[in-house]
Amino acid sequence: MGQLMQNYIEDAEKALLHTYNRYQIVLDKGEGVYLYDFEGKKYLDFVAGIAVFALGYGNQEYNDTLKGQIDKLLHTSNYYYNVPAIEAAKRIKKLSGMDRVFFTNSGAEAIEGAIKAARKYAFLKDGTADHEIIAMNHSFHGRTMGALSVTGNPHYREAFEPGIGNIRFADYNDFDSVLAQVTDKTCAIIMETVQGEGGLTPATEDFLKKVRALCDEKDILLILDEIQCGMGRTGYNFAWQKYGVKPDIMTSAKALGCGVPVGAFMMTEKVGQNSLVAGDHGTTYGGNPLACAAVNKVLEIFERDDIAGHVQEVGPYLWEKLDELMAKHSKIKEHRGAGLMQGLVFEEPVAPVINKALENGLILINAGANILRFVPPLVIEKADIDEMVAILDKCID
Ligand SMILES: *Cc1c(COP(=O)(O)O)cnc(C)c1O
Repeated sequence: MGQLMQNYIEDAEKALLHTYNRYQIVLDKGEGVYLYDFEGKKYLDFVAGIAVFALGYGNQEYNDTLKGQIDKLLHTSNYYYNVPAIEAAKRIKKLSGMDRVFFTNSGAEAIEGAIKAARKYAFLKDGTADHEIIAMNHSFHGRTMGALSVTGNPHYREAFEPGIGNIRFADYNDFDSVLAQVTDKTCAIIMETVQGEGGLTPATEDFLKKVRALCDEKDILLILDEIQCGMGRTGYNFAWQKYGVKPDIMTSAKALGCGVPVGAFMMTEKVGQNSLVAGDHGTTYGGNPLACAAVNKVLEIFERDDIAGHVQEVGPYLWEKLDELMAKHSKIKEHRGAGLMQGLVFEEPVAPVINKALENGLILINAGANILRFVPPLVIEKADIDEMVAILDKCID
């Protein structure tokens, strides 16, 4: 590493709070599916800022839209209407089939809103406020206190207890374990349609359908977290669309803005008419014109260029190539995921593989200590997958 990059890293370690064990590169710019560090070294990017940069780097149409909006109007309060937010909400409704949209600044904040909407819905039904939410073990919903409280990783929660309270955990893809946690106080069941951080595990159709039926029977709200698995990543605009199961409340973020910090929670009309009202919830920045201009353009490109259709083409190819890799390396025990959200489970920590890949110009990330996660830009081509596999193959032993 050169002196300039070394200096930046030393400055970072003195100034930034140590909440991340960062890889030893300072990234400088991006182009298509490639990133460049400060010394001009080129990396093939199979992380996309963790499932964010779906369109790749430097999409001119997207960049021009943002630049135009910056010159026009960057921010205005949610007490006024703005056109990008209206247009973006209309597009979300069309692509998701949900009815009401609330824009946030992040994924965790979308989860907070979803929890509040569910609790308010239950409160309006019986006038009591001690309702329970069932969440899944191995889930990840974010780092704020509410989102953390429904995150099924005790290690993340331990130092910050008590959380928001009245949360019960069940096992993902185990309907009986969900049933065992239901009480007459249950107001919502929250889960990722495909678990991301927890290990790239898709919900089984049987599980999701049974949970949906349970929710219908008991008027429990189903909250599907599509922050990582939504926005085309599994080959559908939103992952649940494959199952024919619709949530009452859904969250989105990550690729929703393709690099501009934005999230959203959406709900059906039934929940919209019977939960949050004026004065119940708000945000200063959430859904500002810049963020919504990004969302609107991203969704326009997704629809026009059929990004989800492209994922249906290249996703199986990635699956095939990673299967071949698994057959070749006995350290790889399992292959999981859906679309362009896949994971290889190793019998040992994958950090050395990731570091070796970085040396060789490939950016990869883990999900838990032993799983190598693949969440590339959705615009990758088969040739990019070939290039990735060729590099990774050399880095495993
Ligand atoms: C990343 C993620 C979140 C949290 O989003 P932030 O924008 O980091 O707050 C929540 N749920 C899932 C499934 C995620 O992958």
